[in-house]
Amino acid sequence: MTHVLEGSLHRKCGGHYQAAVETVSLRVSGMTATVERGILRCSACGDEHRTVQQREAAEQAAIVAVRAEHGLMSPRELKHFRERLGLTHEQLGDLLYGVPRSVVEGWERGRYVQNPEADALLRSLDDPATLERRAAKAGVTLPIVLPLELATPIPVVPAADLPPAPAGDASLRDAPMTAALPPVPELRPDA
Ligand SMILES: [Zn+2]
Repeated sequence: MTHVLEGSLHRKCGGHYQAAVETVSLRVSGMTATVERGILRCSACGDEHRTVQQREAAEQAAIVAVRAEHGLMSPRELKHFRERLGLTHEQLGDLLYGVPRSVVEGWERGRYVQNPEADALLRSLDDPATLERRAAKAGVTLPIVLPLELATPIPVVPAADLPPAPAGDASLRDAPMTAALPPVPELRPDA
């Protein structure tokens, strides 16, 4: 493959490649996005060339566009969602009817995008009953995830903030513990 850059000579015609933009429709996970893609076009004969970088940039733009159009979970949201449920990439894939681990990782890296059906299925797992049902069918052992309020340590209240002890017999309250004990009676065998 010839390495074409902006300003490169087109040997066939003697012209030079200039940066240009084309509008293309790209397919992403069964969805279509229309994006602008940079190209190099020969100023003399119109021959067009697209670099690997230009193709990849357009594919990334298409992923961003379909995610926005269909309201799909972002890579960051998806990662947080999986971590909140305490699932590995593989387990989440299994819960989604066998999506490969590499694809789940690709979703979280923004390399791939889940289609609307997978996105809806993902969101349905937020319901504990649905999650348990899917896990039972997929043979996934769910981790025990404590609700946030139970996982949070009980705060320690400083003594100064505690309410005052109820008023009572001041002599008893302030007396040393030993003084409150009754005298031990002597044992008498014949009593
Ligand atoms: Zn040319």
